[in-house]
Amino acid sequence: MIRVVKRASVPEKLATAGVDATQRFCQEHDSGKREFAFDKNLYGHKTVKDAMVEDQFGKCCFCERKVGSDSDVEHFRPKSSVCQESHADRLTPGYYWLVYDWDNLFVCCRQCNQWFKRDFFPLRDATQRARSHHDNLALESPLLIHPTQDDAEAFIGWRDDVPYPINNSEQARHTLEILQLRKEDRPPQHHGDLQATRRDHLQLLQSLCDILQLAPTVEVEFQARDLLARMQSNQEVFAAMTRAFCAARGIA
Ligand SMILES: [Zn+2]
Repeated sequence: MIRVVKRASVPEKLATAGVDATQRFCQEHDSGKREFAFDKNLYGHKTVKDAMVEDQFGKCCFCERKVGSDSDVEHFRPKSSVCQESHADRLTPGYYWLVYDWDNLFVCCRQCNQWFKRDFFPLRDATQRARSHHDNLALESPLLIHPTQDDAEAFIGWRDDVPYPINNSEQARHTLEILQLRKEDRPPQHHGDLQATRRDHLQLLQSLCDILQLAPTVEVEFQARDLLARMQSNQEVFAAMTRAFCAARGIA
């Protein structure tokens, strides 16, 4: 997981139809309604999704794999219902007033969204949860790392291809646990090959590291160093893991 930097300009669909629909939801809520008709074609409109994919370099906001055409739109604060933990009651409605909120939307792989994140949004103090658009979100202290507001790499460290909570961070522990990002966590049938893909990536990094040390020619060393540098950029898969790997070995 890396920090996502989203464009400041809200996609037009959200700024127009999204704002109108949100106002309707708020009015409906104040009239006593508790179920809302969310429009997937609005928060998942091609222009909205394209903007997210571009800002996230085509990667899932949680596991950093490339997302394909089957990617989901993730509502960080869940839209229909919300759950503090697996054995807790499911609260409805969810954060209906943030369904078309640009800051609440991310592109995410189907496994992370539908199998793990689902409607979980734990808070340090669940009594402070905002239950309507009248409540103050700033009073919430989320236990999940926010893809844009938090720097994920300050919370999650890496031992080769296994992420761990830095300083036993509570947010990192919850994020790793709910998203099941540690390789021993994801059940094989639900794995969606995250473990295998990360292991392949680690092997590639180790091979490049070996080439650097053997350095048969200056040209080969340059190419290996150049490739390792490029693999650390935000555009690449598993950038956080790659940066931690290189930092641990003193590779720039
Ligand atoms: Zn994912």
